Amino acid sequence: MYLISSCLCGVNCKYNGGNNLNERCLELFNEGKAILICPEELGGLSTPRLPAEIKGTARDVINNEGKVITKDNMDITEAFLKGAHETLHIAILSNAKKAILKEGSPSCGVNFVYDGSFTGRKINGKGITTTILEENGIEVVSEVNFGGK
Ligand code: SF4
Repeated sequence: MYLISSCLCGVNCKYNGGNNLNERCLELFNEGKAILICPEELGGLSTPRLPAEIKGTARDVINNEGKVITKDNMDITEAFLKGAHETLHIAILSNAKKAILKEGSPSCGVNFVYDGSFTGRKINGKGITTTILEENGIEVVSEVNFGGK
């Protein structure tokens, strides 16, 4: 069983109310091989919502040494941590060992995230949910690197 970012299967849970439909992810879901998760909604955030970026690294945030802020500088770290832990809980309940998550997101990014300046600059790094899943033995790839079933 895979966990897949809901927005990759066409769910309109993205911060701006849209989605990031990826046909190969949707195919896996339609074959009954995936559970859809949106960590930011699981953390209690509404859709649409203001875009958010990580100040520091995901590990810093988990260690209470970094934070997640919205574009208008609101600290929403707690919601991101809650969503990541709820996602891990779903992985454990469903015995999912693999996840395909949306690249670049402060929750779901696998190889890069935005740098916290809201200027569109990407840096190497991972989202908070990705970090927590990986640290608990779940293999995470992005939709960009997803090599097939
Ligand atoms: S938190 Fe993840 S699943 Fe939810 S909209 Fe963002 S990238 Fe998609």
